[in-house]
Amino acid sequence: MSAVALQSLWSVTAPPGPVCSPLAGAQRAQAAVIGAGYTGLSAALHLAEAGRDVLVLEAADIGERASGLNGGQVIPGVKVDPDNLEAMLGPYGGRVIATAAAGPDLVFDLINRHGIQCDATRSGWIQPATSEAALAQLARRAEQWWRRGATVEVLSRREVLQLTGSARYRGGLLDRRGGTVQPLAYVRGLAHALLRAGGRICTHSPALRLTRMAGAWSIETPAGSVSAPLVIIATNAYTDSISDELRRTLVPVPSFQVATAPIPAPLRSTILPEGQAASDTSHLLRYFRLDASGRLVLGTRGTFARVTALRDVQFHYRSVHEIYPQLRGIAFEYHWGGMVAMTRDHLPHLHELAPGLLAGLGYNGRGVAMATVMGRLLARRALGASVMELGFPVTPVLPLPLHALSGVAARATIQYLRLVDGLSRLPARMRVGALFRA
Ligand SMILES: Cc1cc2nc3c(=O)[nH]c(=O)nc-3n(C[C@H](O)[C@H](O)[C@H](O)COP(=O)(O)OP(=O)(O)OC[C@H]3O[C@@H](n4cnc5c(N)ncnc54)[C@H](O)[C@@H]3O)c2cc1C
Repeated sequence: MSAVALQSLWSVTAPPGPVCSPLAGAQRAQAAVIGAGYTGLSAALHLAEAGRDVLVLEAADIGERASGLNGGQVIPGVKVDPDNLEAMLGPYGGRVIATAAAGPDLVFDLINRHGIQCDATRSGWIQPATSEAALAQLARRAEQWWRRGATVEVLSRREVLQLTGSARYRGGLLDRRGGTVQPLAYVRGLAHALLRAGGRICTHSPALRLTRMAGAWSIETPAGSVSAPLVIIATNAYTDSISDELRRTLVPVPSFQVATAPIPAPLRSTILPEGQAASDTSHLLRYFRLDASGRLVLGTRGTFARVTALRDVQFHYRSVHEIYPQLRGIAFEYHWGGMVAMTRDHLPHLHELAPGLLAGLGYNGRGVAMATVMGRLLARRALGASVMELGFPVTPVLPLPLHALSGVAARATIQYLRLVDGLSRLPARMRVGALFRA
């Protein structure tokens, strides 16, 4: 089967990032950050604004991995519902919920404060329900947020139809704290802001070795080294041998997106007319939004294959047509994917691996807001905030048992969930359970 040409819509429509060079020679800094995505650049920016001399090392180019590839949905909170989170984290629970829920405030504040041109809109985030059971779960989620003072809205089937233009859903949840950005433009804007604040960024400079010498850390890259008393690892799903123990706390899972041609005007006004982003409740969730020129951008789980075949993206085409049958006939112009970092407890983690060595990662597909928040938490911790002042737990690094098998398990889980979603879309009389009952 033929391969599909991969190109991200965002790489074609984002304003240019700063031009940076690889690290050369022996450098010094007060803080070195490994990884120039949202986590690393937010950490570096907050440190630079506090007067620290910061140097960021990036293996590829700025935002070339998840931060420049994602769906650009700015989502408040973490994957775990507030009541469960409070039960899991005990005394920290309430503050972690508030910190994560305020993620979009931080994103849109940074965008305003630094004049970042990234098509930012804050019209909310919708979770449309694919089943009655999912709708009941959304109602429970809404009630948990109401008890914490958040004004989320439960939507009827008709209201979801009005807001999304899709008749596919039973109802949903609208969270007006969320919004959308052009993700690559946002991460490049953070990089420009960091340089204006006096920070340095070295691209195409993979950190190869990290050693502790005379009270400072030394990081070697192919053409240079940097010595700093403080190092922050911000490599998330792309963590490599720079920290094998961190890498083994994560399961990287592929997510893949397609974007249509701009939708013609009369049709376009019926699809997400108020500009919200949406992530539905399928087992393999499908997330979708319009971009600034009226293209529908839809993502769902990808494949682990090195080459993307036509049959892989046909799953995405079918998803678009199932949600929006009215888009049949509109061409698909962009195809691209990246890796999402999943954690065992579905929560992001801030780790202190050794004195002066911090890491933040594990956003489980909700990193636009949360990775930006994590960057600020890492900077605050680096500047001396106690765990109590931080209001966020500093957790031990717990590599997953049998991590080498995690990729196999992730593949199997994705296939299984595809099957479950596929069966749930069959007419009731054709589902497996119905055959047995017949
Ligand atoms: C397809 C896709 C869709 C998504 N959609 C959404 C969404 O709509 N909303 C949402 O909230 N979240 C979404 N996410 C998740 C979100 O993109 C991530 O959680 C977030 O970007 C993580 O940011 P980060 O800076 O931690 O990691 P990254 O952006 O991945 O940055 C890590 C950087 O570290 C660098 N690196 C790795 N190793 C080294 C080394 N040894 N030396 C130097 N540099 C190194 C990498 O090159 C990379 O640039 C999506 C993710 C993907 C892949």
